[in-house]
Amino acid sequence: MAHDGIIYLDHAATSWPKPPEVLDAMARALGPAGGNPHRSAHRLALEAARLVLEARSTVAAFLGVRDPRDLLFVPGCTFGLNMVLKGLLAPGDRVVVSSVEHNAVARPLAALAASGVEVVQMPVDEAGRVDLDAAEELVAEAPTRAVVCQHASNVTGAIQPVADLADIAHEHGAVLVADGAQAAGHLKVDLAELGADAYVASGHKGLLGPQGIGVVYLSPGLEVRELVQGGSGGDSGALSMPVVRPDRYEAGTPPVPAIAGLAAGVAVLGREADELFEQEQRIARRLLEGLAAIPGMRVLGPVLGEERAPVVSVVHEEVEPDRLAYELDSRYGVAVRAGLHCAPAAHAAMGTAETGAVRFSVGRGVTEADVDAAVEAVREVCLA
Ligand code: PMP
Repeated sequence: MAHDGIIYLDHAATSWPKPPEVLDAMARALGPAGGNPHRSAHRLALEAARLVLEARSTVAAFLGVRDPRDLLFVPGCTFGLNMVLKGLLAPGDRVVVSSVEHNAVARPLAALAASGVEVVQMPVDEAGRVDLDAAEELVAEAPTRAVVCQHASNVTGAIQPVADLADIAHEHGAVLVADGAQAAGHLKVDLAELGADAYVASGHKGLLGPQGIGVVYLSPGLEVRELVQGGSGGDSGALSMPVVRPDRYEAGTPPVPAIAGLAAGVAVLGREADELFEQEQRIARRLLEGLAAIPGMRVLGPVLGEERAPVVSVVHEEVEPDRLAYELDSRYGVAVRAGLHCAPAAHAAMGTAETGAVRFSVGRGVTEADVDAAVEAVREVCLA
């Protein structure tokens, strides 16, 4: 449904509009629950502490995390990926990673490579999916500390075989780290089943929360060096961080309003997810079909009928992505994203490193009428 005259198809960048429950929860966290959790003992602080405790349980339950203490609040998915990768890997370690990662993975790994971590890339097929045989061969080739892979691509929508990669990693004594930025809140994520040892997600995309919050799941046996040290509200006499979770990984005053908003978004998903995910898939299929039918249009990633996250990126043989996105916004109020989507490697794999693409992404609130109007607008711009 258009909101404020905007047909919003940029959910892969951030979900919008947020459910009213999210705004209300954030306002409450700035009002009656506005104290500093786990510090003072007055009622405002206790309310804040209760809020954080309940929020952790809500988000953990939605993602299939058995013990909420294994679910850590961090400032965002990028921060969480840095925390896991830099906390896990040391010079001399070997890491096997997909060749289509977002810069939130590719850049920390490049920084680690510069300090002596060996980074080996797994190839993908024409739809951008990791080739499991090649992955197995690479992991078996030499002692490997970690296999790292996105759960779903923000460029192609390809869903990666994370569970199989986890099996491969475990067979060879490695851990599996997954980037769930585009999966959480759009696909069913059950971390009790998936096999990932670490799983990181944005709070502000499919999980419907505000910007400034993300989550890291660390499996019970896996400890990484914490990226940040500071106050934890307890054990203040010691100079080292407490070893207990989540305290070890959450130094400093937590972003309570953002945590409250995230929990409220996830509570909405808890009620709606089964139907919503199905609806997003249906609408993304309709979008893909409509765009693919426009002469001169190429759709990246899995073809119609193959599974994908609700993301559809396209390139037109004549209309540049930037121009298409600009025309869609300025003339039709259709919000999409053009360019490389912070994932140049994924574009390189698709042969679109030079041009980039225009990405349409579906989320809560997008209707069939929205995508029909968007497709019609694209048709008008491209066939003008
Ligand atoms: N990984 C992927 C696949 C993404 O799409 C994004 C967001 N564009 C990120 C990581 C980073 O998320 P954030 O910007 O919320 O830190």
